[in-house]
Amino acid sequence: LANKKFNMNSSIIKVRDVEIGGNKFVIMAGPCAIENEKQIIETAHAIKKSGASILRGGAYKPRTSPYSFQGLEEEGLKYMAKAREETGLPIVCEVTSLKSVETAYKYVDMFQIGARNMQNFYLLKEIGKTNTPVLLKRGLSATIDEWLNAAEYIMSEGNKNVVLCERGIRTFETATRNTLDISAIPIIKHKSHLPIIVDPCHATGKRAYVNPLSKASVAVGADGIMVEVHPNPAVALSDGPQSLPPDEFELLCNELRPFSNLV
Ligand code: PEP
Ligand code: MN
Repeated sequence: LANKKFNMNSSIIKVRDVEIGGNKFVIMAGPCAIENEKQIIETAHAIKKSGASILRGGAYKPRTSPYSFQGLEEEGLKYMAKAREETGLPIVCEVTSLKSVETAYKYVDMFQIGARNMQNFYLLKEIGKTNTPVLLKRGLSATIDEWLNAAEYIMSEGNKNVVLCERGIRTFETATRNTLDISAIPIIKHKSHLPIIVDPCHATGKRAYVNPLSKASVAVGADGIMVEVHPNPAVALSDGPQSLPPDEFELLCNELRPFSNLV
């Protein structure tokens, strides 16, 4: 179902009134984790002003260490919903379990499946039974075909609203947190009708590379990007080193605008 032979044209996935896969380059932005009400609402206003059209924020955080901040769960989803109310931006949040799907279903406009759960087939099937759009991140060590099969797990249950997200893969290189597989974008475009966006933050782990790789994403034909933005990255509870402060995010949006049909 994800294969191009089922749809020669690119699919357009609607997240409320935002179209992904159409002729506009979509920017999703927001903190790695929702930390408190003020943080998410302040960020939502800032990213909207700069040109983002979807707000991201994690309420369930699949951290590498069990001792790291694990997320505010439903309390965080309530703050996200409030940020949507104030700004009109649709919201995307990661779900990590069946229980989190049941809770998040009431709040979010798009489910995110994180890299660590890309092959959690049981979870994929469950969100496949909903109509909520899904942002499916590539697994840390997943091939492109494994990734498309993960999309198939969702789509075969009925939910065709899948957007793919390249977020870097594990390689021998240690200069960056992961290695952005920029070739995945034209390959996916060749094989599938599904929209694809790029997450340059998790791909690199370093703020300095987010701007150039966002530009590369436009150049290779991605349908958008997802960028971590925090009002004060130095005190972020997660992923501060790869998060942009609002002024750098604004600069990024301004630099992308001439090369993309930015919303
Ligand atoms: C995230 O988007 O915050 C995240 C945890 O990403 P990934 O699943 O790509 O590591
Ligand atoms: Mn993160």
